[in-house]
Amino acid sequence: LVSRKRQREDTIVTIGDIAVGGGKQMMVAGPCSVESYEQVRQVAAALKQEGITVMRGGAFKPRTSPYDFQGLGIDGLKILKEVATEFGLKTISEIVDPAHIELACEYIDVIQIGARNMQNFELLKAAGEVRTPILLKRGIAATIDEFLHAAEYILSRGNKQVMLIERGIRTYENATRNTLDISAVPILKQESHLPVLVDVTHSTGRKAIFAPCAKAALAAGADGIMVEVHPNPAAALSDAAQQLNIEEFNRFYSEVKQSGLLR
Ligand code: PEP
Ligand code: MN
Repeated sequence: LVSRKRQREDTIVTIGDIAVGGGKQMMVAGPCSVESYEQVRQVAAALKQEGITVMRGGAFKPRTSPYDFQGLGIDGLKILKEVATEFGLKTISEIVDPAHIELACEYIDVIQIGARNMQNFELLKAAGEVRTPILLKRGIAATIDEFLHAAEYILSRGNKQVMLIERGIRTYENATRNTLDISAVPILKQESHLPVLVDVTHSTGRKAIFAPCAKAALAAGADGIMVEVHPNPAAALSDAAQQLNIEEFNRFYSEVKQSGLLR
């Protein structure tokens, strides 16, 4: 079902009145984690001012260490909804438990399935049962074929509103947090009709190369970019080193727009 051989035209994912795919691109920005109402509100106000319409924020955080901040859970989704309603934004947040998929649809506009859960097949099946758009992240060590099969799980249950996102893969290279597999973008675009995004934050982990990598992704045919933004990254409860502050985000966004690659 995900194959371009079966469907020639690009799938267009619709998030309210926002379209992604088929020539329509999206810039998704927002904090790594939802930490407080005020923190999300500050980011939302800044994004709104820049004309960004879709905000991300993690409420359920799959952390490497069990002692690290695990996210605010459902309370985090409530904060996202409240702030999104106030600013007229759409929201994306990760869900990690199949039992939360239906409930999540009441609070957020796009359900993210994280890299660590790309092959959580029960979660993929649950995501296939709803009609809320899904943003599926590539697994940390997943091949493109495995990535597409994970998407197939969702489509095969009836949910055709699926976006793929390259977020870097694990290699021997440690100059970046992960290795951004830029070639995955045109391959996914050729092999599948689903929209393809690139997460410059988790793939590179290096703020200074977010803009060139975003431009490379768009030049390679990406339908969107994801980047993390926090009002005070140094005090962030997760990914403190790789979130842009608001001023840095504005600079990043203007550089990407100036390239003429973001439609
Ligand atoms: C995220 O986007 O919040 C995240 C945890 O990313 P990933 O699943 O790609 O590691
Ligand atoms: Mn993060």
